Amino acid sequence: MPNTPIFNTFADNTLDRSGNLRKNPEWISSQLHHPKAKFIPMLNLMVPIKKENNFSYIKYLSFSEISYYLDNSLNPIFLGTKKSIPYFVCDLSESNKIQNLNDLISFEELRNAAMSLSNEEASILALARSITDWRLNNNYCPKCGDKTKTLNGGNSIICKNETCKKEIFPRTDPVVIMLVYNKNKCILGRQSHFPINFFSVLAGFMEPGESIESAVSREVLEETSVKVKNVTYHSSQPWPYPSSLMIGCIAETEDTSIIIDQEEIVEAKWVERKIILNALDLAKDSKADPLKENKLNHKRLILPPPIAIAHQLLRCWADNPKFFL
Ligand SMILES: [Zn+2]
Repeated sequence: MPNTPIFNTFADNTLDRSGNLRKNPEWISSQLHHPKAKFIPMLNLMVPIKKENNFSYIKYLSFSEISYYLDNSLNPIFLGTKKSIPYFVCDLSESNKIQNLNDLISFEELRNAAMSLSNEEASILALARSITDWRLNNNYCPKCGDKTKTLNGGNSIICKNETCKKEIFPRTDPVVIMLVYNKNKCILGRQSHFPINFFSVLAGFMEPGESIESAVSREVLEETSVKVKNVTYHSSQPWPYPSSLMIGCIAETEDTSIIIDQEEIVEAKWVERKIILNALDLAKDSKADPLKENKLNHKRLILPPPIAIAHQLLRCWADNPKFFL
């Protein structure tokens, strides 16, 4: 890859997860009662945000504040420590004091909030959102159906049934996302839920028993009938909706025609580098989420914003014509 900095939103979590220490319930208890412990309240998977001087920050609560909302049913998940301060996330969706909470804190969708947060805070919230979603969906053992309880400060769960005791860990779903190019052109695709002029690079879930290279080749072939070669890894991005890992790649092809699979995408086309460069500059300056923007200008190409790894893949390829000959 070209020697240029890589900036992926959600990929800058600086918390020390303390993987060995968190196995000890007594240590977790001491962290819960640490005088400076920070708690991230979550409400229906939305994240707590405070705004100051046009910047956004995480709105943390103290132990006594978060305890007030959950009474005796406090079940925080340990996220990690930074400078010896422990961080936890706590789902408050079941609290009977939600009205008070809504008066105190502004909750937002992470995807929107991330555009005005530091990447470090966006990354902490990505972890908080993914693991909260996982915990909410795993109250019962997938093997025997009995109830589960938490281990490792909430970073894994175990079946309560003594004859089962199945331990379950948070899942991550790998997705390959790839820029495919031929000389000065690359392939862009449009899914059915995209606005009419919004295009991105191709992507798809990996399948069991598949290497990253094989997944890239298969997805591109399935969606466009294009055969790729020289699949190269670029970077990766946690994508907390709910728990994907985007694996960014760049691949070359000698094919120049496209036959699309209508079930996967509704449109795909070759786009020249200079058009990509213009559209990237416009996407960089736009604060709006193009997927939620209904009044788009239909005359020009809209690309994903910098928050998406697709933007970073396109930027890498478009800015380095000598590297990607
Ligand atoms: Zn079980």
